[in-house]
Amino acid sequence: MKALDELTFDNRFARLGDGFSTHVLPEPLDEPRLVVASNAAMALLDLDPAVAETPVFAELFGGHKLWAEAEPRAMVYSGHQFGGYTPQLGDGRGLLLGEVYNQAGEHWDLHLKGAGMTPYSRMGDGRAVLRSSIREFLASEALHALGIPSSRALCVIGSSTPVWREKQERGAMVLRLAPSHIRFGHFEYFYYTKQPEQQAELAEHVLNLHFPECREQPEPYLAMFREVVERNAEMIAKWQAYGFCHGVMNTDNMSILGITFDFGPFAFLDDFDAHFICNHSDHEGRYSFSNQVPIGQWNLSALAQALTPFISVDALKEALGLYLPLYQAHYLDLMRRRLGLTTAEDDDQQLVERLLKLMQNSGVDYTLFFRRLGDESAALAVTRLRDDFVDLAGFDAWAELYKARVARDGDDSETQRRERMHAVNPLYILRNYLAQNAIAAAESGNYSEVRRLHEVLTKPFEEQAGMEQYAQRPPDWGKHLEISCSS
Ligand code: AMP
Ligand code: MG
Repeated sequence: MKALDELTFDNRFARLGDGFSTHVLPEPLDEPRLVVASNAAMALLDLDPAVAETPVFAELFGGHKLWAEAEPRAMVYSGHQFGGYTPQLGDGRGLLLGEVYNQAGEHWDLHLKGAGMTPYSRMGDGRAVLRSSIREFLASEALHALGIPSSRALCVIGSSTPVWREKQERGAMVLRLAPSHIRFGHFEYFYYTKQPEQQAELAEHVLNLHFPECREQPEPYLAMFREVVERNAEMIAKWQAYGFCHGVMNTDNMSILGITFDFGPFAFLDDFDAHFICNHSDHEGRYSFSNQVPIGQWNLSALAQALTPFISVDALKEALGLYLPLYQAHYLDLMRRRLGLTTAEDDDQQLVERLLKLMQNSGVDYTLFFRRLGDESAALAVTRLRDDFVDLAGFDAWAELYKARVARDGDDSETQRRERMHAVNPLYILRNYLAQNAIAAAESGNYSEVRRLHEVLTKPFEEQAGMEQYAQRPPDWGKHLEISCSS
């Protein structure tokens, strides 16, 4: 266990120099205070969880103090936003404080979001509000606990600094951890600004530090792109299987590591709705739940375009062709497991699609349906779940197919079935209304709710005593919360 002043820095991205990022100091928040910290994320830095409660912790992550070895930098990148290219973006309100390596030899970027203005702030104020910081914190740690690759969050620091959004709010900072903060948009920036040397330097950096195994391949850059395709296919399959809607899948929000990144107006589905749009500003539904799958490929094509100086177009096209079949295989594998199946049959895809259509038509709660399906034998579970469906004949027909399929899958006891299914079907999910309740309490200075919710979400598959209220369907007001892009 380390104390805060014992972190070891190795700032590899900063060493790439001024063509890649700009030195900027954090702008401190007034009266910084700890809102919530993640013990699991503290462990990634070998930090003793107790240090989160010390005043120096809030000072460090509220922008007042800095380690001597930190080299705070705002990174430059660009990206396709809602399908259109924006030539220059960059860290407008976040800073890469430095890279810390832990005892296991892993490097973790410390990225402070809400740290003030940078040369890339455009019209923005460089700040993040408490509401959005709490949402990012909870989502990062909840996704990780579900087994969905994501950037992590160490803590949220609140303050008395006024920040103006639709109304006056309070400024906050979230300390984000990831092995890298390099996005698809980094590659696009150097490609479209015609800086081939810097682009090659970036590609070497990413290859050496983050995809070293691709070095051994005959065409290392192509192997790296293939790996990015594979990781994205797997990540998006997990989003779709667990009902996660990212909300702003612009290429500047896509991590080169294939991890969920840059949280805005995200949501987990309550009722299953393939057409759900979580971002109130996404009028066309470009990033609706079901569109995430083709958008994943669209984003990879944008990255492929930026890699044309290194890889032939034919090879890039071939690698892009891997995306959909890989996505489908991962998705089907996860959905089979969610249904409690251990074997594969040709008609399984259809079984899943029929169920989702029935759930869509009846507005069935996506998370609780699967959890309850595993509570008891298939026959008993479908009898009990039947009442949730409007199209009873449709559901009965599906239930017969499902029971027959379960019977062919092989014999196991009710206990085995329950254990297997509960291990993949969460009881607790970060519902918008739960986040909203925690945010409302935090905005009035009470942080116990956000801490409790975070605790519950770190063990989503385990039934926790006294936490029944977190495993309910949302109240009506909670289903129609409008989450805007303003954060
Ligand atoms: P996002 O939608 O959060 O991914 O942000 C898109 C771009 O806008 C990035 O370059 C951000 O750094 C920048 N940005 C977002 N909000 C602010 C803000 N309040 N101040 C400065 N820049 C911002
Ligand atoms: Mg972003």
